[in-house]
Amino acid sequence: MPDGAGKRASRHTPDAKTEAAAPLAHGPGAGDVWVFVEQHDGVAAEVSLELLGRARELADRLGVRVGAVLLGAGAAAKALAPALVAHGADVVYVALHEDLADYLAMQYATVVAGLIRRHRPQIVLYGATTTGRDLAPRVASTLRTGLTADCTDLRIGDLERKGVVTKDLLYQVRPAFGGNIIATIVTPAHLPQMATVREGVMVMPEADERRSGTIVDVAVRRGATGASSRRADDDAIVLPASDFAVRVVRRLREKKTVGLKGASVVVAGGAGVGSRDGFALVEQLAETLGGVVGASRAAVDAGWIDAEHQVGQTGVTVRPKLYVACGISGSVQHRAGMDQSARILAINRDPDAPIFSVAHYGIVGDLHKVIPMLIKAYRTRGAVGAASAAQGGA
Ligand SMILES: Cc1cc2nc3c(=O)[nH]c(=O)nc-3n(C[C@H](O)[C@H](O)[C@H](O)COP(=O)(O)OP(=O)(O)OC[C@H]3O[C@@H](n4cnc5c(N)ncnc54)[C@H](O)[C@@H]3O)c2cc1C
Repeated sequence: MPDGAGKRASRHTPDAKTEAAAPLAHGPGAGDVWVFVEQHDGVAAEVSLELLGRARELADRLGVRVGAVLLGAGAAAKALAPALVAHGADVVYVALHEDLADYLAMQYATVVAGLIRRHRPQIVLYGATTTGRDLAPRVASTLRTGLTADCTDLRIGDLERKGVVTKDLLYQVRPAFGGNIIATIVTPAHLPQMATVREGVMVMPEADERRSGTIVDVAVRRGATGASSRRADDDAIVLPASDFAVRVVRRLREKKTVGLKGASVVVAGGAGVGSRDGFALVEQLAETLGGVVGASRAAVDAGWIDAEHQVGQTGVTVRPKLYVACGISGSVQHRAGMDQSARILAINRDPDAPIFSVAHYGIVGDLHKVIPMLIKAYRTRGAVGAASAAQGGA
């Protein structure tokens, strides 16, 4: 059983001096599976919690622990640790220091790379957020290891090369070559294996408040000019003076106006909508169904709708109860952001459009005729009648 798992009470220890660095290896019994947990004002990014769920599955398969790495300052950041245990972590490494209050690439990379050197996880996962996309490459280059960005799946599997089998590597799965292939990338010769994953791709695990884990306080301190960032005599991770090239003067946060990710109904329009005015129809249907408006990249590129509405590989990943695709062909890049929706209704005048291969319900017809019929039918008869009325009339 992993250390700390199964014990009711959390154990607080100083950063484990006695914990010897694990051997550098892949596979069962090697280092742990870690998640870098992004937090703002004591609130964990959803993607970090989602990643803890997948890390749990990977770690169980490998027979190792899940580690969460939490950086910040103050009590609010530390108070997050039990929630990370509840979401699947066995060990939470908490590094609190006033210089870590705001994300800064160099300081954060020093601490994360320092912890990785010390504890030798075999896998480290990051959310593909602005922070994760900045931090993970710095950590990768500091540690001279690989990094796969924007993975859509993570699994454990073997690699055979020239008759030599490397067991239990992290399969880092992502679309490649403009989405024309799904590539499985492995890092057989370097450790840790690292990947970023976009928000909404992995399923959010249920919090289990009965889980218990170990909370490890990580000492961090500022070093003198020229000091090494490696382990210091007092066991603190030292932030060298060279890390302080940038400081945060002020933080301004733009309000998120489009709540695509958590929406239970998304009505999305594509190139088939035809014009900016045509989007009014899509908006009307979204309003009627109590949903949020999404879009394909073609519609965004045409300037008919803002980029924050884009669904897909380079947009938002959604998992609504109902996804209505209007005039969207269903490219692999678009499907990557919506094919996990519980129910998909596609409206397209081309019966061979690829979107129909992932749709549960399909209406072949001109969306300019179908959508008004759907709205009318929904308003008079409710959702179930709407689909059949439109199907009959299209
Ligand atoms: C690296 C990369 C990343 C990308 N990321 C994304 C992404 O995140 N999201 C994304 O969406 N795309 C993305 N794309 C673009 C993607 O490849 C497609 O070009 C795009 O999804 C096409 O959008 P569409 O389906 O709206 O347009 P089209 O492919 O042109 O399809 C329009 C559809 O509308 C139908 N239609 C036309 N008129 C009507 C009508 N009157 N009534 C009903 N149906 C009608 C047509 O039959 C057709 O099927 C990416 C591409 C690359 C290379």
